Amino acid sequence: MKADHQTGMLKRAATARMPTKWGMFHAIGFKREITNGIPGVETALAIIMGDLRQDAPLLRIHSQCFTGEALGSLRCDCGDQLAMALQAIADEGRGLVVYEYQEGRGIGLMAKLQAYELQDAGIDTVAANHALGFKADYRNFNLPAAIVRDLGVSRVRLLTNNQRKVYALCDAGIEVVARIPCEPAPTPYSLAYLRTKKERMGHALSLRHYGNIGSFASRAASDMFAWRGSDHSRAVNVAREF
Ligand SMILES: [Zn+2]
Repeated sequence: MKADHQTGMLKRAATARMPTKWGMFHAIGFKREITNGIPGVETALAIIMGDLRQDAPLLRIHSQCFTGEALGSLRCDCGDQLAMALQAIADEGRGLVVYEYQEGRGIGLMAKLQAYELQDAGIDTVAANHALGFKADYRNFNLPAAIVRDLGVSRVRLLTNNQRKVYALCDAGIEVVARIPCEPAPTPYSLAYLRTKKERMGHALSLRHYGNIGSFASRAASDMFAWRGSDHSRAVNVAREF
């Protein structure tokens, strides 16, 4: 999904209630035609709670991570970031997550696994992507920006550590009144990866705090760690020692 792709009109595919363990959301499916030599369709989901038109709602632009979200992989922070964002929105009673299908920073699941294989051999996530012929980050954030505008939201508080998302929203005419860190505790398995994101990709990560986006973060984290069981609790305890 490069910026030079031709895109069609954004359309709403469906709207449905989405009860979750964090509370009641509404999910709106969006799609738009995209042309990059061959025609296709790009899709994304907006997961919404409350009235978004009041003041500046919380927003998380989140990229799919099957390994982190479905398998509970500790190699990255994606699953915990999504949970933190949903908990933060539930605590305020309003806000949204725009969920994009950009597995592995846009390279797809199979290529991400290949990159993991290279990382297991000792190179970092950026070098692994380059070795496979990809950019370090293949994403752009045009679609979520269009979705936010379609929802009538012109000002947001953005839950992210990635300054590129701030720039993408600003370029689309959406005011980011605050960037709120979304940083779960590193684990022994994610720490090197997160260091690379900080040092080579410019992500604003402290790599220290257990949770630094308010009281909800600790609650969300403790809920998740209880759910994930003792193995993850041990991993977090080890991570705290770094
Ligand atoms: Zn991930």
